[in-house]
Amino acid sequence: MEERESVYRSIFPKYFFMASTDFKRTVEDFVCEHCGKSVSGNGYTNHCPQCLWSKHVDVFPGDRAEMCGGAMKPVSFLKNGQKYVLLQQCQSCGHERSNKFLEGVDSFDTLLSLVDRKGEGF
Ligand SMILES: [Zn+2]
Ligand SMILES: [Zn+2]
Repeated sequence: MEERESVYRSIFPKYFFMASTDFKRTVEDFVCEHCGKSVSGNGYTNHCPQCLWSKHVDVFPGDRAEMCGGAMKPVSFLKNGQKYVLLQQCQSCGHERSNKFLEGVDSFDTLLSLVDRKGEGF
């Protein structure tokens, strides 16, 4: 990250995201509000790799256009080909969304503790 960019981020975190034209790859470090893990953003994930919770801040992934801000709880998952898709539900407004599960980054144990929505198992 450029030094100037990180300075802007620390002074105007909100405005930085609004001004960014590259919404899909917002690199963002955060502390998980659910389990307290420090997560260093890689630009592809906005959820905690440990507990798989995130916040309801996107309308489309990475756009930060949603004002809800509720906690997104991992409720289920699907297997899409070789990829896993995490399903999360907002605890504030009930909105459901899918989230890419990042193999090698996200906790597989946590994923498997969720219910496979299709009931197909593995
Ligand atoms: Zn967490
Ligand atoms: Zn919500």
